[in-house]
Amino acid sequence: MNPVFVCGRRAFVPPSFLTVRLRVETTLVRCELAEHPPFQPHFAYAADRPDALPEAVWAVWSDRDPTVRFHVLADCDTGNGQEGAEEHYCTLFEAHPAPCSWAMICLHREVDALMAEFER
Ligand SMILES: [Zn+2]
Ligand SMILES: [Zn+2]
Repeated sequence: MNPVFVCGRRAFVPPSFLTVRLRVETTLVRCELAEHPPFQPHFAYAADRPDALPEAVWAVWSDRDPTVRFHVLADCDTGNGQEGAEEHYCTLFEAHPAPCSWAMICLHREVDALMAEFER
């Protein structure tokens, strides 16, 4: 099976009343979907919902329309069916395009993990 890579396309979140209201604290987001055709929108996790609701704020934009919009979407939470340390749950939103997050390779995350090793 060929590895599936995360799209990783970046977008800057403009400071606005909306981002404050939604408690979006980041200014740079990265698409967390698997690599996809350019006409499909990019989705990036932006903030948690208060009150532990099973949903999150997602930043959505596209190559054609780079304006970042926000959607509140339910969590996916699909498990990979493994047990113990190999057990992972999807960090994407409900009804996202396949595959789930645990089935993808995120180069940014790999690099971060590698850097953390070096900094020990
Ligand atoms: Zn994308
Ligand atoms: Zn999923």
